[in-house]
Amino acid sequence: MQTLAEIDEKLKKTRKALNSIRYAMGNISAKEFHDYVTGEIFSEDTTTLRDVLDNEYLMIHEVAEINELKKMGRIINKRVIVESPKTVIYEAHFRAIELELNYALFKKDYFWVKMRLKAHKDSVLENDPNLPKTLRPRGEEILEKFNAQMAKKASPNMNIKSRIQKHQ
Ligand SMILES: [Zn+2]
Repeated sequence: MQTLAEIDEKLKKTRKALNSIRYAMGNISAKEFHDYVTGEIFSEDTTTLRDVLDNEYLMIHEVAEINELKKMGRIINKRVIVESPKTVIYEAHFRAIELELNYALFKKDYFWVKMRLKAHKDSVLENDPNLPKTLRPRGEEILEKFNAQMAKKASPNMNIKSRIQKHQ
């Protein structure tokens, strides 16, 4: 099948991308990936399989999420999200968003980091009735950690200016 061949190819690329940020991905089949991304969910999400396949950050996210779920002993199929405990789902999601943002930082894609941090704050921390209370601190810690990293990268032009002034 055309789609499964494409998924296999994208999984290989994602494995390399994850290796570059020192994350080891276990075995994930094209079928598992397909079923996971097209499976049932409990939240509103309009992201399609095509959206994911065409975006390396979303690939990192989904692959990391599947990998974390497998590490926690879940079997990946179309119902894994609706049939697993919410704590398991959110733990995997939080690990996935961290890896996705680490990779975007590695690629110096600060626009992506900002956009995804805003979505994390607006849709997960402030508006998600499914987020387990016990995992809220973990979600907040991610926001703070990446906000701090972004503050350090603020305005490279200003850094150059201040460096020039120092040497005058
Ligand atoms: Zn997720």
